[in-house]
Formats: sequence, C-alpha cells, structure tokens
Amino acid sequence: MKDYLIKGIDELGRIRVYVASSTNLVENARITHNTSPTASAALGRTLTAGVMMGAMMKNEKDVLTLKISGGGPAGNIYVVSRNNGIIKGYIDNPQADVPSRADGKLDVGALVGNNGSITTIMDLGLREPYVGQSNIVSGEIAEDIANFYAVSEQQPSAVSLGVLVDKDISIKAAGGYIIQLLPGVSDQDIDKIEAKLASIEPVSAMIDKGMTPEEIVDSILGDFNMQILEKMDIEYKCDCSRERIEQVIISLGKQEIVDIIEEDGQAEIVCHFCDTKHQFNKKELK
Ligand SMILES: [Zn+2]
Repeated sequence: MKDYLIKGIDELGRIRVYVASSTNLVENARITHNTSPTASAALGRTLTAGVMMGAMMKNEKDVLTLKISGGGPAGNIYVVSRNNGIIKGYIDNPQADVPSRADGKLDVGALVGNNGSITTIMDLGLREPYVGQSNIVSGEIAEDIANFYAVSEQQPSAVSLGVLVDKDISIKAAGGYIIQLLPGVSDQDIDKIEAKLASIEPVSAMIDKGMTPEEIVDSILGDFNMQILEKMDIEYKCDCSRERIEQVIISLGKQEIVDIIEEDGQAEIVCHFCDTKHQFNKKELK
C-alpha cells in the first residue's frame, strides 16, 4: 500500500485526527541508516509521529524538528519534517539493540531510555523558533508524545505508533494516529473514545492487515461522523544539496576554512540524514 496520511475532524469540530500509513517511509529510513530491528522501530515510530506533527503546521516553509533524548543505548533520535509529508531523520546509534521483551515485542523503551526529554523546535519564519519540551515518560515514543502534548501544549491527545519488523529485518508494517480532543468535547465522548481505544488492536496490526487510514479512522471514531479534510502522500527524503552544504562550510568562517585547506587539502561532509558524502577540493574551498 502507498504511504499517505489523512487529517479529519468530526462534524462538531471537537475531535481532530491524523492517521499515517508509513511502511515504505520507515523501510527507506531503515535502508538508509542500516538500523537494528529495535532501532528501526524507535526511529520509525518517531518518523511516523513527526510526519503527522509536521502536517499540523500551516505554511510550506515551516520546519519542525523533533528530538527524542531518553538516555538509552539508542542515543538521540532526530526527525525534521515540513507540512508537505516530506520527512528525514536519524538515530545516533543505528546498530544499538536490546533483547526483546518477555512478550516477544521489541523493547523500544529500553533502547530509547526513560531518563531525558522530548523537544520540538518549530521554525515558523519568525525571529525566534517556537520550542516545546517535556520529560520522557517511557521511551516508547507514543506515550512520550502524548505526554508532551498534555504538558507542553495543554492539548489532550491520544497517540499510537507502531512498527512491525519482519523476520528478514525489513519493515512489514508501520503507521500511527494522533487524536486531539478540542475544547467543547464532552466527558461522555471522551469515555467513548477511551473505551474504543482500549478495545482495538495495535495500529501496526491494522496496517499489516491492509487497512487504509480512512478505515482506521472509521474503526476508532466511526460514531462521530468524521470528515476527511486532507489526504497527503508522505515520503522519507533528504533535501540536502551541494549548495546547502556550501553554505555550511562558508558559515565556518575564513580561518577555519584556511585550516582545513592546510591540514587536509580537502573537505568531506557526510549528511546525517541520507549518508551522502559531499566532497570539496582545495580549489573549491578556496
Ligand atoms: Zn542528506
């Protein structure tokens, strides 16, 4: 199934939902970074959340950086997204792995760690970026993002993220959803949604069965007459370019560049997000 996300809202405008089907996106990230199974799940969950969070921004030029820093063997996880479904990311230690849990599930919480913070930096084209932060709760990502919305944004939300890794360590299924409860939603409706969320299967199992984002919305919020506002293709893609890397080199300053020329005679800059090696010879550095 093609990767995409949808945004929906109920007819009274009190329940907003984002659902993403992201299997190919997460597989591309896995191939790019050569991640261990648990690292694939950790990075994949973060990318799936990030692409939905990016889609919440209003303008084309807005940039969201989401950083998960849980103090575990994974190191930090970064994802950068825009509002157009394009996302990139990386994990500090892609090869780090931990034993599975007793129930056989990948132990993402142990790999990410639960002693640290989650940070979002939104560059909305204003003088200062908007920064939000909260503590990591479990390192399982979805719970951490739900807590982030509650604590940092005062936005009650239900977040579910899932990545199924196949026996050959490729990505079998990935996806997620974020449900936001807006002002005016009744306690009765909240109870109804909570009861539903407690009874449905994990989102990765729904994607694996071939359910579309629309069908997932229907299975959770079918009682609320949801309207789909937008449908968007999503993709793992790095936007680095030689020109952009040139700007990075220029920003080092003249002395630093002179030092590089004298010491190495050339420069190689490796992009964290796509592993592309950008090379600059002496003449170009000059
Ligand atoms: Zn790149």
